[in-house]
Amino acid sequence: MQYYSTSNRKLRSGLKEAVIRGLAPDRGLFMPVSVPVINRAMLEGFRGMDLTAIAVQLSQVLFGEDIPANELKKITEEAINFDTPLVVVEKGIYALELFHGPTLAFKDVGARFLARLLGHFTRELNEDIHVLVATSGDTGSAVANGFLDIEGIRVHVLYPSGGVTPLQEKQFTTLGNNITALEVQGSFDDCQRLVKEAFMDEELSNQLTLTSANSINLARFLPQAFYYFRAWAQLERGTKAFFSVPSGNYGNMTAGLVAREMGLPVNTFLSANNINDVVASYLLTGRYNPRPSTPTIANAMDVGDPSNFDRILDLFNHKYEWITEHLHGYSFTDTEIREIMGRVYKESGYLCDPHGATGYQAAKSFREEHPEITGIFLETAHPAKFRESIEEVIGSPVELPERLAAFDRLEKKTIEIGPEYKDLKDYLFSVQA
Ligand SMILES: *Cc1c(COP(=O)(O)O)cnc(C)c1O
Repeated sequence: MQYYSTSNRKLRSGLKEAVIRGLAPDRGLFMPVSVPVINRAMLEGFRGMDLTAIAVQLSQVLFGEDIPANELKKITEEAINFDTPLVVVEKGIYALELFHGPTLAFKDVGARFLARLLGHFTRELNEDIHVLVATSGDTGSAVANGFLDIEGIRVHVLYPSGGVTPLQEKQFTTLGNNITALEVQGSFDDCQRLVKEAFMDEELSNQLTLTSANSINLARFLPQAFYYFRAWAQLERGTKAFFSVPSGNYGNMTAGLVAREMGLPVNTFLSANNINDVVASYLLTGRYNPRPSTPTIANAMDVGDPSNFDRILDLFNHKYEWITEHLHGYSFTDTEIREIMGRVYKESGYLCDPHGATGYQAAKSFREEHPEITGIFLETAHPAKFRESIEEVIGSPVELPERLAAFDRLEKKTIEIGPEYKDLKDYLFSVQA
């Protein structure tokens, strides 16, 4: 399959080039030239399959032209080695639990897939590939763990010092081997900017093969389409549903919209935000005003200029009326998020994490006007990952799953850098030397 650049539809690349580069040469984002549509028989066949089985079929549809079938099956089965169950929270509202992977966050899906796909493509190269990734929390852990020990790939995780929870930090600063954590004296937006600058730096790219594991890499967000199908397949036949997606950089949302283009019979998507609501404002006013992000308790959504927004515009041919027909925006303050987590826990016993809580409440609000449609909100992280803010609300301890507790016992190792691009560049040159 060919992929075009969102900055210039005529600029095209194959899968290998698009995955290794991450960003198109003109700095646009890669998108499939045409999204393949699955037939009804395949869709119906998904009922009763787990996520892995569905992923094996859909990865053939998306990537089958470019990778030998048995290799692709192996990549998919190794990457997507856990399920995404749909759990009833209350009548008409389900949580799609995306946190059953190794780092207990939905980003495991895309990160593990990308790591193995990249590993496949770089096997023929005789130099290391350097993955640069900026994280506001969960990306770092999912990417670092997804890439750990993959040969030929070195990962450099940039994160805002003090801007992630202690437990998140432990998950990408303790791994060693081919993973290095860069503690940036700045914000998440600084981290994203540094990564972008590195990709634009020709002097650097003449020396190092750099790629990105942020959701700008198409091999990270496309596999996330798989679990939208898995969600649908768990509904009772004939159920009309919408998705509510807690959003930051909008990779998850883009994947859902691609799933829709592939033939998923769902037409409504809710964009749930914290107070970093540039997309919600856009949906209300038609004006897109990126601005610096503000820290919140749902910190993985503290994004002031979502990197996948152009992909969403492209999927709807930049037609505002069309976008607002399918997408509805909601945003919540920290006070509201705390109130939601407490209320849901009290009323149904379900423990939302702060991100999932925004998705839940958006679904709840939308259903007030559309009670006939079932809401599925994406529960993007295990609540224990944000236990500090949750315990405050529910007044009792949140148990730490053993997988997370194990990270907590390890020792953090980071390299500190400033927010200036020169600091990152010096570091990268020193790695190369
Ligand atoms: C990354 C993340 C999000 C936002 O996902 P995007 O694809 O960037 O919109 C939401 N919740 C959690 C827990 C995350 O880690």
